Order: sequence, then structure tokens, then C-alpha cells
Amino acid sequence: GSKSYSFMLRTKNPCGKVSNELYLAMDDLADQFGIGTLRLTTRQTFQLHGVLKKDLKTVMSTIIRNMGSTLGACGDLNRNVLAPAAPLARKDYLFAQTTAENIAALLTPQSGFYYDMWVDGERIMSAEPPEVVKARNDNSHGTNFPDSPEPIYGTQFLPRKFKVAVTVPTDNSVDILTNDVGVVVISDEDGQPQGFNLYVGGGMGRTHRVDTTFPRLAEPLGYVPKEDILYAVKAIVVTQRENGRRDDRKYSRMKYLLSSWGIEKFRTVVEQYYGRKFEPCRELPEWEFKSYLGWHEQGDGRLYCGLHVDNGRIKGTMKKTLREVIEKYKLNVRITPNQNLVLCDIRQAWKRPITTALAQGGLLHPRLVDPLNVTAMACPALPLCPLAITEAERGIPDILKRVRSVFDKVGLKYNEAIVIRITGCPNGCARPYMAELGFVGDGPNSYQLWLGGTPNQTSLAKCFMNKVKIQELEKVMEPLFYHWRRKRQSRESFGDFTNRLGFEKLQEFVDKWE
Ligand code: SF4
Repeated sequence: GSKSYSFMLRTKNPCGKVSNELYLAMDDLADQFGIGTLRLTTRQTFQLHGVLKKDLKTVMSTIIRNMGSTLGACGDLNRNVLAPAAPLARKDYLFAQTTAENIAALLTPQSGFYYDMWVDGERIMSAEPPEVVKARNDNSHGTNFPDSPEPIYGTQFLPRKFKVAVTVPTDNSVDILTNDVGVVVISDEDGQPQGFNLYVGGGMGRTHRVDTTFPRLAEPLGYVPKEDILYAVKAIVVTQRENGRRDDRKYSRMKYLLSSWGIEKFRTVVEQYYGRKFEPCRELPEWEFKSYLGWHEQGDGRLYCGLHVDNGRIKGTMKKTLREVIEKYKLNVRITPNQNLVLCDIRQAWKRPITTALAQGGLLHPRLVDPLNVTAMACPALPLCPLAITEAERGIPDILKRVRSVFDKVGLKYNEAIVIRITGCPNGCARPYMAELGFVGDGPNSYQLWLGGTPNQTSLAKCFMNKVKIQELEKVMEPLFYHWRRKRQSRESFGDFTNRLGFEKLQEFVDKWE
């Protein structure tokens, strides 16, 4: 039937920035050509499900003409570059966002094929910053860059998808260590950005029953002065392009190159392309998870307002309300890496009418969103993703309710939260391997349980149990949460608690539970 010819389409929005025009266009497209809902993703993009093949050209050209793009949202090349979604008028935030945009431009394929196909060759994108064009074509810095119309990708693109995130110290809203390249702005005492710490080799995806595939955290590569950042990123990409494994897609992400070479050898090879040495990474303060929910000052006289969107799915009354508000006040918006939405550039005088409108649409009621839900994420999974083994987005509301009742039963308070993430397969799109309690589909209605992530996403979880049937989750959750409440040290997070006790002890709790 026509179903088999329906497509999923993903936009590309560095930093999650979505102009007013693009939001309204996507909202219309979802109704006219999709399934009537908009999905925000963990990489700060839109996904439109259910677009029919015959409508693809109309949809693509509408997106491109509204200054959006889908170029590089899928395939073996750089994916959407993440950066904090907060529209703060702070030098470091602005610099992180500009850098994300420049890296996205640097790593965009140069072939005109894309525009030929969707808008009959018309080039619609705005001009690129000169430093990006220079860095792409300038080989004086390093050695061995190919001389070709695709200086970054050469003739064969990358072995696999490639993910980059940029942020500022303390703000880990982007899950920085899960990316192939993590870029952190380093500022001087006056708040002036000077350079970047670079982290390499993170990645989530794995394959069930193949222990040689694994999630991995990025590790420190070194510090670069700000004017060299694009050259350093180019050198990392070319290192992976030339050396990443191409014989088996299971092992072709850059994290496997890092783990087979080790960071020292990897650094030496990158330095050869880069043409200079990395300085040691600058020391950073602790990372924090930032949600940006609620009302905040931007720092330029305007306000922004972060809205929680369950699993990033905008539908029904919420969709209608958002459209009205965004259209009426001509607001730009941003998508967060936690699948939420930030309304930007709001004048003080609009705060009250917008609050009223949002409240009438059932939005912006902090007490209506369970704290467990604020940090939870699920991937689309069934029925939308062909790789899904079991439920995630459709299953998470019920799972969160059950976690809440277990919390009540063992005496944990309403405002105590843990990070829960669920995916329908080991590919790990909702980054379950960074969760304090991660569910990874491993059979129909069954999950692997992963423990050991932390609230600020700095430690990697490990697989605690396999094939836990969905009906039997309480048998594992009750003993774990009970002992956490009883035995935790002051303010110890669930993730820190499970790491301190170790799996042997935790397994004993589960086995002895009546
Ligand atoms: Fe699909 Fe797996 Fe990604 Fe979920 S984690 S969206 S099931 S590929």
C-alpha cells in the first residue's frame, strides 16, 4: 500500500534555531503532508513522519525556501551540530552558537546536487562566513588535505554518521561527551572567549549480543586557540575519513578508531593534518544539566520561556496553542537536545498574555509535569522507526507512572527525580546509556536495564540486566529504589548510589526481594 512509500524527513537546525517562518511552515507541512504532529528530536531538529513520496518535493522545497534545510540530517556525514538552546545574550553562549553554525557550514557537502534535486538548482542558502570558506579550502595549515570539489569529504564521504556539539563550561544541556567531537568554549577572566577544549570519540550506538560494540564517552584531545577551531575540526574529520573502518558499519563510528588506537596515537595523527600541536585541555568546573524550562531573562531586555514537550511530540491542543502564540508574536523558537521548545525574544509586555494563552492550552503548568518527566526521554520507536524492537515513545507515559508509584511505595518524595531514558533498540537515539535508569529494547515487550549514568550526564551506564519483561519492571525497581532511599548518603543521586554499591550488591537486593 501507500504506507510503504511514506518517508521520515528530518531538518537541520544548528543550535536548534528555528525562525518564525520555518516554525509556521513546518506546522503547516505536518498537517498537509505528515501525520498532523511535529516531532522534536534529541539533536535539536524536527522530524516529520509519514510524508508520501509524491509530496516529497513540495515538502522539501517548502522547507528550503523557509531557510531550513534537510541537507546532512541523515547519511554518512556530519549531523546537526548541537549547541545550548538558551537565547542568552552572553558572550560565551553567543560564541558557542556561532561556532556551531560555522562548524555546520564547514562540514556541509559542497555538491549542488541537493539544490538541483529539490529546488531546481536555485541556491537559496545565505552566504557563508569567509572564515568558513577559507578553512574549507586552505591547506597551508596542515598537510594531506585532498584537492577536490569536496575538500572535507573527498570522494567517499565518511565511514558513518558524525556528531558534533558545542557548549560553554557547566552547561551540559547538549550531552557533550556523547558526540564524536565535543567543543567547549574557554573564556578569560573578563568573559572573553579565547579558545576551545576539544573532546573526541563519544557515541551511543551498539548492537545486541556483540560485545565488541559499545557506547563510549568522549575523552580530552586538547585545547585550540579560537582562530584555529575550524582547522582542528577539519583535521579530526579527515583523520576519521581516512582511517575509520569501512568494512563493517557496526565498527565505523570514530569511537572505535579511538578505542583501537588510543588517544595518544589519535592525537598524533590529527596533529599531522592540523599542522600544529594541541595544548593541554583547560580545567573545567562541574557539568550541570540545564532544562531552561519556565520564564527567564535573556540579558538583552527580552525574555525567553522554555516549554516541556512530552517526548518532543507536538500535537493536538498544544500544537494549536503554540502555533497561535508563535504566529501572533512572531516569535523565533529553539529546540533543545532534550526535545523541548524555547520561545525566544519575548517583550516584557507580552509575558502576561502569553502566559495566559499557554495556560489555556495546558502548557506551562509546572505542577502538571511530573519531575520524572522533565528529564525523561524516549525515542520514536514503534510504529515509526524501522529499527525498533519494542515500544519507547508510546510506552514511556505508562512506565513513568509505574516508577512514580514505586517511588510512593518506598517513600521517595515527589520532587526527587532520576534520569530515565528509553529506546526501542540498541542504536540509542535517546542516549539511554547516559541515564540513571536506561531501558533499551531487546525483544518484544522486554528491555535491557542500564544503571550508572548521573544527573549531569558525565558517566556511562552499564548493562545491569537483560530481557526484563515489561510486566516485571517493579521486581527490579522496587528493591533498587527502596535501598537507595534507605542507604544513600546525603543528597546522593540514584546514579552515584548504584555506582558506589556496585552490581553485585544491587543484584543481591533484587534476588532477595519478596
Ligand atoms: Fe529507532 Fe532505535 Fe533510534 Fe529508537 S533508538 S529511534 S528504535 S533507531
